Amino acid sequence: MNILVINCGSSSLKFQVINPETEDLLAKGLCERIGIDGSITYEAVAKGLPKVKKDVPIEDHKKAVSLVLEALTDPETGVISSLDEIGAVGHRIVHGGERYNSTVLIDDEVENAIREMSELAPLHNPANLIGVDACKALMPGTPMVAVFDTAFHQTMPPKAFLYALPIRFYEDYKIRRYGFHGTSHAFVSKTAAEFLGRDLENTKIIVCHLGNGASCSAIVNGKCVDTSMGLTPLEGLIMGTRCGDLDPAIVEFISAKEGISIADTEKILNKESGVYGLSNGLSSDFRDLWKGSDEGDKYAKIALEAFSYRVAKYIGAYAAAMNGVDVIAFTAGVGENDPRIREMICSYLGYLGAYIDADANKSRGEMAKISTPDSKVDLVVIPTNEELAIAKETYAIVAKA
Ligand code: ADP
Repeated sequence: MNILVINCGSSSLKFQVINPETEDLLAKGLCERIGIDGSITYEAVAKGLPKVKKDVPIEDHKKAVSLVLEALTDPETGVISSLDEIGAVGHRIVHGGERYNSTVLIDDEVENAIREMSELAPLHNPANLIGVDACKALMPGTPMVAVFDTAFHQTMPPKAFLYALPIRFYEDYKIRRYGFHGTSHAFVSKTAAEFLGRDLENTKIIVCHLGNGASCSAIVNGKCVDTSMGLTPLEGLIMGTRCGDLDPAIVEFISAKEGISIADTEKILNKESGVYGLSNGLSSDFRDLWKGSDEGDKYAKIALEAFSYRVAKYIGAYAAAMNGVDVIAFTAGVGENDPRIREMICSYLGYLGAYIDADANKSRGEMAKISTPDSKVDLVVIPTNEELAIAKETYAIVAKA
Protein backbone atom coordinates (compact mmCIF):
# COMPACT_ATOMS: atom_id res chain seq x y z
CA MET A 1 0.00 0.00 0.00
CA ASN A 2 1.21 3.52 -0.80
CA ILE A 3 0.76 6.37 1.64
CA LEU A 4 0.60 10.03 0.66
CA VAL A 5 2.28 12.05 3.41
CA ILE A 6 1.21 15.68 3.66
CA ASN A 7 2.86 18.43 5.70
CA CYS A 8 0.77 21.53 5.17
CA GLY A 9 1.81 25.05 6.20
CA SER A 10 -0.06 28.32 5.74
CA SER A 11 1.39 28.94 2.25
CA SER A 12 3.19 25.67 1.51
CA LEU A 13 2.45 21.98 1.17
CA LYS A 14 5.18 19.32 1.27
CA PHE A 15 4.33 15.82 0.09
CA GLN A 16 5.83 12.38 -0.34
CA VAL A 17 4.46 9.08 -1.56
CA ILE A 18 5.95 6.19 0.37
CA ASN A 19 5.39 2.45 0.47
CA PRO A 20 5.71 1.84 4.23
CA GLU A 21 6.19 -1.91 3.82
CA THR A 22 9.22 -1.68 1.52
CA GLU A 23 10.18 1.83 2.79
CA ASP A 24 10.45 2.89 -0.88
CA LEU A 25 10.02 6.59 -1.64
CA LEU A 26 8.08 6.89 -4.91
CA ALA A 27 7.85 10.66 -5.30
CA LYS A 28 8.24 13.86 -3.35
CA GLY A 29 7.75 17.55 -3.78
CA LEU A 30 6.57 20.86 -2.54
CA CYS A 31 3.96 23.49 -3.43
CA GLU A 32 5.03 26.96 -2.40
CA ARG A 33 3.60 30.47 -2.25
CA ILE A 34 0.04 29.15 -2.14
CA GLY A 35 -2.42 32.07 -2.32
CA ILE A 36 0.39 34.42 -3.41
CA ASP A 37 1.46 33.25 -6.88
CA GLY A 38 2.55 29.63 -6.73
CA SER A 39 5.07 26.98 -7.76
CA ILE A 40 5.30 23.20 -7.60
CA THR A 41 8.51 21.22 -7.31
CA TYR A 42 8.15 17.53 -8.12
CA GLU A 43 10.53 14.59 -8.24
CA ALA A 44 9.45 11.17 -9.54
CA VAL A 45 12.01 9.26 -7.47
CA ALA A 46 10.70 5.82 -8.52
CA LYS A 47 11.32 6.70 -12.18
CA GLY A 48 14.75 8.21 -11.48
CA LEU A 49 13.63 11.50 -13.01
CA PRO A 50 15.24 14.77 -11.96
CA LYS A 51 13.50 17.35 -9.78
CA VAL A 52 11.39 19.79 -11.82
CA LYS A 53 10.11 23.17 -10.63
CA LYS A 54 7.20 24.87 -12.38
CA ASP A 55 5.62 28.24 -11.67
CA VAL A 56 1.84 27.80 -11.73
CA PRO A 57 -0.90 29.85 -10.11
CA ILE A 58 -2.01 28.13 -6.90
CA GLU A 59 -4.93 30.06 -5.44
CA ASP A 60 -5.58 27.78 -2.48
CA HIS A 61 -4.62 24.46 -0.87
CA LYS A 62 -7.29 22.52 -2.76
CA LYS A 63 -5.64 23.61 -5.98
CA ALA A 64 -2.26 22.59 -4.53
CA VAL A 65 -3.53 19.10 -3.70
CA SER A 66 -5.09 18.75 -7.17
CA LEU A 67 -1.75 19.67 -8.78
CA VAL A 68 0.01 17.09 -6.59
CA LEU A 69 -2.49 14.39 -7.57
CA GLU A 70 -2.16 15.31 -11.26
CA ALA A 71 1.63 15.07 -11.04
CA LEU A 72 1.46 11.71 -9.25
CA THR A 73 -0.85 10.21 -11.91
CA ASP A 74 0.68 11.89 -14.98
CA PRO A 75 1.20 9.21 -17.70
CA GLU A 76 4.83 10.24 -18.20
CA THR A 77 6.13 11.52 -14.90
CA GLY A 78 3.62 9.96 -12.52
CA VAL A 79 4.43 7.13 -10.14
CA ILE A 80 0.94 5.61 -9.78
CA SER A 81 -1.62 4.84 -12.45
CA SER A 82 -4.66 5.92 -10.45
CA LEU A 83 -5.52 7.44 -7.09
CA ASP A 84 -6.78 4.03 -5.98
CA GLU A 85 -3.13 3.16 -5.47
CA ILE A 86 -3.00 5.55 -2.52
CA GLY A 87 -4.29 3.60 0.48
CA ALA A 88 -4.35 6.49 2.94
CA VAL A 89 -3.12 10.01 3.55
CA GLY A 90 -0.96 10.70 6.62
CA HIS A 91 -1.13 14.31 7.79
CA ARG A 92 1.48 15.88 10.01
CA ILE A 93 -0.52 17.74 12.65
CA VAL A 94 1.52 19.95 14.93
CA HIS A 95 -0.58 20.11 18.10
CA GLY A 96 -2.56 17.27 19.60
CA GLY A 97 -2.76 18.87 23.06
CA GLU A 98 -3.40 16.46 25.92
CA ARG A 99 -6.10 14.68 23.94
CA TYR A 100 -3.87 12.67 21.61
CA ASN A 101 -0.97 10.51 22.70
CA SER A 102 -0.90 8.50 19.47
CA THR A 103 -1.81 8.53 15.79
CA VAL A 104 -5.54 8.51 14.97
CA LEU A 105 -7.89 8.12 12.05
CA ILE A 106 -9.42 11.52 11.27
CA ASP A 107 -13.19 11.80 11.66
CA ASP A 108 -15.38 14.83 12.42
CA GLU A 109 -14.64 14.61 16.13
CA VAL A 110 -10.86 14.53 15.56
CA GLU A 111 -11.11 17.45 13.14
CA ASN A 112 -13.03 19.47 15.70
CA ALA A 113 -10.48 18.65 18.38
CA ILE A 114 -7.61 19.75 16.12
CA ARG A 115 -9.54 22.97 15.47
CA GLU A 116 -10.04 23.54 19.21
CA MET A 117 -6.32 23.06 19.80
CA SER A 118 -5.51 25.81 17.29
CA GLU A 119 -5.36 28.11 20.30
CA LEU A 120 -2.14 26.32 21.26
CA ALA A 121 -0.66 26.37 17.72
CA PRO A 122 -2.32 29.26 15.87
CA LEU A 123 0.18 29.23 13.01
CA HIS A 124 0.14 25.48 12.44
CA ASN A 125 -3.08 23.64 13.30
CA PRO A 126 -5.38 25.74 11.07
CA ALA A 127 -2.99 25.24 8.12
CA ASN A 128 -2.78 21.49 8.85
CA LEU A 129 -6.59 21.30 8.80
CA ILE A 130 -6.79 23.08 5.46
CA GLY A 131 -4.60 20.27 4.09
CA VAL A 132 -6.94 17.64 5.55
CA ASP A 133 -10.02 19.31 4.03
CA ALA A 134 -8.36 19.73 0.62
CA CYS A 135 -7.42 16.03 0.52
CA LYS A 136 -10.86 14.94 1.73
CA ALA A 137 -12.52 16.95 -1.05
CA LEU A 138 -10.34 15.44 -3.79
CA MET A 139 -9.96 11.92 -2.43
CA PRO A 140 -13.33 11.06 -0.93
CA GLY A 141 -13.30 7.63 0.65
CA THR A 142 -9.53 7.56 1.23
CA PRO A 143 -8.74 7.33 4.96
CA MET A 144 -7.11 10.43 6.45
CA VAL A 145 -4.81 9.95 9.43
CA ALA A 146 -3.43 12.50 11.92
CA VAL A 147 0.15 12.06 13.15
CA PHE A 148 0.81 14.56 15.94
CA ASP A 149 4.13 16.28 16.66
CA THR A 150 3.24 16.38 20.35
CA ALA A 151 1.97 12.80 20.82
CA PHE A 152 5.26 11.08 21.68
CA HIS A 153 5.86 13.52 24.55
CA GLN A 154 2.54 12.81 26.26
CA THR A 155 4.23 10.23 28.51
CA MET A 156 6.07 13.02 30.37
CA PRO A 157 5.12 13.08 34.07
CA PRO A 158 3.60 16.25 35.61
CA LYS A 159 6.89 17.13 37.35
CA ALA A 160 8.43 17.48 33.87
CA PHE A 161 5.56 19.09 31.97
CA LEU A 162 4.31 21.62 34.54
CA TYR A 163 5.54 25.19 34.69
CA ALA A 164 5.85 26.64 38.19
CA LEU A 165 2.93 29.01 37.65
CA PRO A 166 -0.31 29.16 39.65
CA ILE A 167 -1.69 25.69 39.03
CA ARG A 168 -4.97 27.13 37.77
CA PHE A 169 -3.16 28.26 34.61
CA TYR A 170 -2.61 24.61 33.83
CA GLU A 171 -6.05 23.55 34.96
CA ASP A 172 -7.95 26.38 33.26
CA TYR A 173 -5.85 27.06 30.17
CA LYS A 174 -3.74 23.89 29.77
CA ILE A 175 -0.54 25.92 29.93
CA ARG A 176 2.16 23.25 30.19
CA ARG A 177 5.13 21.85 28.29
CA TYR A 178 3.96 19.79 25.29
CA GLY A 179 7.14 19.38 23.24
CA PHE A 180 7.42 19.06 19.45
CA HIS A 181 9.39 17.06 16.84
CA GLY A 182 7.81 14.01 18.54
CA THR A 183 7.73 11.92 15.36
CA SER A 184 11.46 12.48 14.93
CA HIS A 185 12.33 11.77 18.58
CA ALA A 186 10.31 8.53 18.45
CA PHE A 187 11.79 7.42 15.12
CA VAL A 188 15.39 8.28 16.01
CA SER A 189 15.33 6.66 19.47
CA LYS A 190 13.85 3.45 18.04
CA THR A 191 16.25 3.40 15.09
CA ALA A 192 19.26 4.12 17.36
CA ALA A 193 18.40 1.14 19.58
CA GLU A 194 17.96 -1.14 16.53
CA PHE A 195 21.22 0.11 14.99
CA LEU A 196 23.16 -0.55 18.19
CA GLY A 197 21.48 -3.91 18.83
CA ARG A 198 20.13 -2.61 22.14
CA ASP A 199 16.74 -3.35 23.67
CA LEU A 200 14.73 -0.11 23.46
CA GLU A 201 12.70 -1.30 26.47
CA ASN A 202 15.82 -1.27 28.60
CA THR A 203 17.77 1.77 27.42
CA LYS A 204 18.15 5.43 28.42
CA ILE A 205 18.47 7.65 25.35
CA ILE A 206 18.93 11.37 24.77
CA VAL A 207 17.94 12.48 21.28
CA CYS A 208 19.37 15.81 20.08
CA HIS A 209 17.27 16.94 17.10
CA LEU A 210 19.40 19.81 15.84
CA GLY A 211 17.94 21.44 12.74
CA ASN A 212 16.66 24.90 12.10
CA GLY A 213 14.29 24.13 14.93
CA ALA A 214 16.05 22.18 17.68
CA SER A 215 15.03 20.12 20.67
CA CYS A 216 16.39 17.46 23.03
CA SER A 217 14.42 14.70 24.65
CA ALA A 218 15.06 12.18 27.41
CA ILE A 219 13.70 8.71 26.64
CA VAL A 220 13.59 5.87 29.18
CA ASN A 221 12.68 2.42 27.88
CA GLY A 222 11.11 3.89 24.75
CA LYS A 223 9.01 6.49 26.59
CA CYS A 224 9.66 10.22 26.63
CA VAL A 225 10.19 11.57 30.16
CA ASP A 226 11.26 15.12 29.31
CA THR A 227 11.77 17.39 26.34
CA SER A 228 13.13 20.88 25.80
CA MET A 229 10.39 22.58 23.77
CA GLY A 230 7.44 23.86 25.74
CA LEU A 231 3.96 25.25 25.26
CA THR A 232 5.32 26.43 21.91
CA PRO A 233 8.51 25.53 20.00
CA LEU A 234 10.25 28.64 21.38
CA GLU A 235 11.57 27.09 24.59
CA GLY A 236 14.76 25.14 25.14
CA LEU A 237 17.78 25.02 22.87
CA ILE A 238 19.17 27.94 20.91
CA MET A 239 17.83 27.47 17.36
CA GLY A 240 18.30 28.96 13.89
CA THR A 241 16.26 32.07 14.66
CA ARG A 242 14.52 31.18 17.96
CA CYS A 243 16.03 32.20 21.29
CA GLY A 244 15.18 29.12 23.36
CA ASP A 245 15.28 29.49 27.17
CA LEU A 246 15.02 33.06 28.39
CA ASP A 247 14.28 34.99 31.57
CA PRO A 248 10.58 35.80 30.99
CA ALA A 249 11.13 39.32 32.37
CA ILE A 250 13.16 40.11 29.24
CA VAL A 251 9.98 40.25 27.14
CA GLU A 252 8.56 43.27 28.98
CA PHE A 253 12.03 44.84 29.17
CA ILE A 254 12.62 44.69 25.39
CA SER A 255 9.08 45.86 24.71
CA ALA A 256 9.58 48.95 26.91
CA LYS A 257 13.10 49.73 25.62
CA GLU A 258 12.18 49.39 21.94
CA GLY A 259 8.66 50.80 22.27
CA ILE A 260 7.14 47.74 20.61
CA SER A 261 4.24 45.47 21.52
CA ILE A 262 4.62 42.13 23.29
CA ALA A 263 3.51 40.46 20.03
CA ASP A 264 6.28 42.22 18.08
CA THR A 265 8.79 41.30 20.77
CA GLU A 266 7.72 37.69 20.46
CA LYS A 267 8.27 37.88 16.70
CA ILE A 268 11.87 38.95 17.39
CA LEU A 269 12.30 35.99 19.76
CA ASN A 270 11.02 33.64 17.04
CA LYS A 271 12.46 35.09 13.86
CA GLU A 272 15.48 37.27 14.66
CA SER A 273 17.12 35.52 17.61
CA GLY A 274 18.95 32.20 18.00
CA VAL A 275 22.28 31.77 16.20
CA TYR A 276 21.03 34.28 13.62
CA GLY A 277 20.61 36.97 16.28
CA LEU A 278 23.80 36.10 18.16
CA SER A 279 25.81 36.19 14.92
CA ASN A 280 24.60 39.76 14.43
CA GLY A 281 22.34 38.68 11.57
CA LEU A 282 25.07 36.81 9.65
CA SER A 283 23.03 33.64 9.12
CA SER A 284 20.90 30.93 10.70
CA ASP A 285 22.73 28.35 8.57
CA PHE A 286 25.59 26.60 10.35
CA ARG A 287 27.65 26.37 7.15
CA ASP A 288 27.73 30.17 6.97
CA LEU A 289 28.47 30.45 10.67
CA TRP A 290 31.50 28.15 10.42
CA LYS A 291 32.76 30.06 7.41
CA GLY A 292 32.36 33.32 9.33
CA SER A 293 33.98 31.92 12.44
CA ASP A 294 36.90 30.47 10.47
CA GLU A 295 37.43 33.90 8.93
CA GLY A 296 37.54 35.54 12.35
CA ASP A 297 33.95 36.75 12.80
CA LYS A 298 33.63 36.95 16.60
CA TYR A 299 29.81 36.92 16.52
CA ALA A 300 29.67 33.74 14.43
CA LYS A 301 32.12 32.11 16.86
CA ILE A 302 30.10 32.98 19.94
CA ALA A 303 26.87 31.81 18.25
CA LEU A 304 28.41 28.36 17.65
CA GLU A 305 29.83 28.21 21.17
CA ALA A 306 26.57 29.25 22.81
CA PHE A 307 24.57 26.77 20.71
CA SER A 308 26.82 23.82 21.65
CA TYR A 309 27.00 24.86 25.31
CA ARG A 310 23.19 24.93 25.56
CA VAL A 311 22.89 21.43 24.04
CA ALA A 312 25.54 20.15 26.48
CA LYS A 313 23.60 21.66 29.41
CA TYR A 314 20.43 19.85 28.35
CA ILE A 315 22.32 16.58 27.99
CA GLY A 316 23.61 17.07 31.54
CA ALA A 317 20.12 17.83 32.82
CA TYR A 318 18.61 14.79 31.12
CA ALA A 319 21.40 12.46 32.24
CA ALA A 320 20.55 13.61 35.78
CA ALA A 321 16.80 13.25 35.20
CA MET A 322 17.26 9.65 33.97
CA ASN A 323 20.01 8.81 36.49
CA GLY A 324 22.34 7.96 33.62
CA VAL A 325 22.35 7.70 29.86
CA ASP A 326 23.25 4.82 27.54
CA VAL A 327 22.89 6.45 24.13
CA ILE A 328 23.10 10.02 22.81
CA ALA A 329 21.75 10.35 19.27
CA PHE A 330 22.33 13.33 16.97
CA THR A 331 19.87 14.02 14.18
CA ALA A 332 18.38 16.65 11.75
CA GLY A 333 20.27 19.08 9.49
CA VAL A 334 22.97 20.14 11.94
CA GLY A 335 23.08 16.93 14.01
CA GLU A 336 23.51 14.77 10.92
CA ASN A 337 25.90 16.93 8.91
CA ASP A 338 28.04 19.00 11.24
CA PRO A 339 30.91 17.03 12.83
CA ARG A 340 32.42 20.14 14.41
CA ILE A 341 29.24 20.94 16.35
CA ARG A 342 29.02 17.32 17.54
CA GLU A 343 32.63 17.51 18.67
CA MET A 344 32.03 20.79 20.53
CA ILE A 345 29.00 19.35 22.31
CA CYS A 346 30.77 16.13 23.24
CA SER A 347 33.78 18.05 24.60
CA TYR A 348 31.58 18.73 27.67
CA LEU A 349 30.67 15.09 28.26
CA GLY A 350 33.86 13.58 29.70
CA TYR A 351 32.27 13.39 33.17
CA LEU A 352 29.74 10.92 31.71
CA GLY A 353 32.53 8.81 30.27
CA ALA A 354 31.24 9.74 26.79
CA TYR A 355 34.05 10.04 24.26
CA ILE A 356 33.76 10.93 20.60
CA ASP A 357 35.97 9.18 18.01
CA ALA A 358 37.46 11.86 15.75
CA ASP A 359 37.61 9.58 12.70
CA ALA A 360 34.15 8.07 13.06
CA ASN A 361 32.77 11.56 13.66
CA LYS A 362 33.72 12.60 10.12
CA SER A 363 30.53 10.85 9.03
CA ARG A 364 27.88 13.06 7.40
CA GLY A 365 24.24 12.32 6.71
CA GLU A 366 24.39 8.60 7.40
CA MET A 367 23.84 6.26 10.31
CA ALA A 368 27.08 5.92 12.29
CA LYS A 369 28.43 5.15 15.73
CA ILE A 370 30.80 7.99 16.55
CA SER A 371 31.98 7.09 20.06
CA THR A 372 35.28 5.40 20.91
CA PRO A 373 35.23 1.68 21.80
CA ASP A 374 35.88 2.53 25.49
CA SER A 375 33.18 5.20 25.70
CA LYS A 376 30.62 4.41 28.41
CA VAL A 377 27.90 6.09 26.36
CA ASP A 378 27.14 5.19 22.73
CA LEU A 379 27.22 8.33 20.61
CA VAL A 380 25.42 7.92 17.30
CA VAL A 381 24.30 9.86 14.24
CA ILE A 382 20.83 8.77 13.07
CA PRO A 383 19.32 10.55 10.05
CA THR A 384 15.74 11.39 10.87
CA ASN A 385 12.97 10.59 8.40
CA GLU A 386 9.75 12.11 9.65
CA GLU A 387 7.87 11.32 6.43
CA LEU A 388 8.71 7.62 6.58
CA ALA A 389 7.71 7.59 10.25
CA ILE A 390 4.38 9.26 9.36
CA ALA A 391 3.82 6.78 6.52
CA LYS A 392 4.47 3.82 8.85
CA GLU A 393 2.21 5.18 11.59
CA THR A 394 -0.52 5.85 9.03
CA TYR A 395 -0.20 2.35 7.59
CA ALA A 396 -0.40 0.82 11.07
CA ILE A 397 -3.68 2.66 11.70
CA VAL A 398 -5.35 1.75 8.39
CA ALA A 399 -4.11 -1.83 8.50
CA LYS A 400 -5.78 -2.16 11.93
CA ALA A 401 -9.08 -0.53 10.84
P1 ADP B 1 14.24 22.14 9.60
O1 ADP B 1 13.61 20.83 9.17
O2 ADP B 1 14.06 22.47 11.04
O3 ADP B 1 13.98 23.30 8.70
P2 ADP B 1 16.75 20.81 9.01
O4 ADP B 1 16.73 19.69 9.95
O5 ADP B 1 16.56 20.53 7.55
O6 ADP B 1 15.81 21.97 9.49
O7 ADP B 1 18.15 21.56 9.18
C1 ADP B 1 18.49 22.65 8.40
C2 ADP B 1 19.80 23.22 8.91
O8 ADP B 1 20.81 22.21 8.88
C3 ADP B 1 20.37 24.34 8.06
O9 ADP B 1 19.84 25.60 8.45
C4 ADP B 1 21.85 24.28 8.38
O10 ADP B 1 22.13 25.10 9.50
C5 ADP B 1 22.09 22.84 8.78
N1 ADP B 1 22.91 22.10 7.82
C6 ADP B 1 22.51 21.46 6.71
N2 ADP B 1 23.58 20.91 6.07
C7 ADP B 1 24.67 21.20 6.81
C8 ADP B 1 26.07 20.94 6.70
N3 ADP B 1 26.57 20.22 5.70
N4 ADP B 1 26.88 21.42 7.67
C9 ADP B 1 26.38 22.12 8.71
N5 ADP B 1 25.08 22.41 8.86
C10 ADP B 1 24.24 21.97 7.94
